[in-house]
Amino acid sequence: MTGPIVHIFPCLKDNYGLLLHDPATGETATIDTPEASRILAEAEAKGWTITQIWNTHWHPDHAGGNAEIVAATGAKVVGPREVERAAALPDRVLTDGDEVELGSLTAKVIETPGHTLGHIVFHLPEHKLAFVGDTLFALGCGRLFEGTPAQMWDSLSKLRRLPDETVVYCAHEYTTSNAAFALSVDAENADLVAYADGVKAKRAKDIPTVPTTIGAEKRANPFLRADDPKLQAFVGHPGDVVATFADVRERKNKF
Ligand code: ZN
Ligand code: FE
Repeated sequence: MTGPIVHIFPCLKDNYGLLLHDPATGETATIDTPEASRILAEAEAKGWTITQIWNTHWHPDHAGGNAEIVAATGAKVVGPREVERAAALPDRVLTDGDEVELGSLTAKVIETPGHTLGHIVFHLPEHKLAFVGDTLFALGCGRLFEGTPAQMWDSLSKLRRLPDETVVYCAHEYTTSNAAFALSVDAENADLVAYADGVKAKRAKDIPTVPTTIGAEKRANPFLRADDPKLQAFVGHPGDVVATFADVRERKNKF
């Protein structure tokens, strides 16, 4: 039996549209709804019907297309309660540890407050797949609009504990600027240097840098490395994980 198929395509300025398809049953979920018309067109081109919307958080570039997609397909919406700030309350409100089924596929919900307070991640352990919204980016992490650095570090630590092979779909293509920033704080990290070279090559050919993997991010992403003594020393907070994380995030805001 074929496993899940993920279709990725650009939306808006720098978002990714993501369709998760279960060949066994024909069910299809759109992960967030950055651009309804584009998402509906991509599903149609694949011959897929969207049966579910999986929202990661309430921001309009993630939930703003819910109404249009529901109107067109009758899809059921699952997501955190905060989605009601930008759209209707989800048909099913999700919290940490919940399981979501899409045909034969099962995702576990992981709460990852920080970017927003209600942000969630969808993890499919059986298929080593995760949809992380704006919590984790390739070589970056989401801005702390609502949460504290300690909260976000805790959220990222949950993702860091997933198996290294886990394939991670982020919601934006920010990797070129993330790589430049990462090199500014962790220049001697050989894994990061190699990763950044790969990013350059991909973007030159307009290839997405998403998906990435937990293993690759653990080795190269400074926001997952706040407990690394070298990075801690570089930003001036030896032995202090949260202060290091907060400082790195602050530097990125100003970069
Ligand atoms: Zn967001
Ligand atoms: Fe976003």
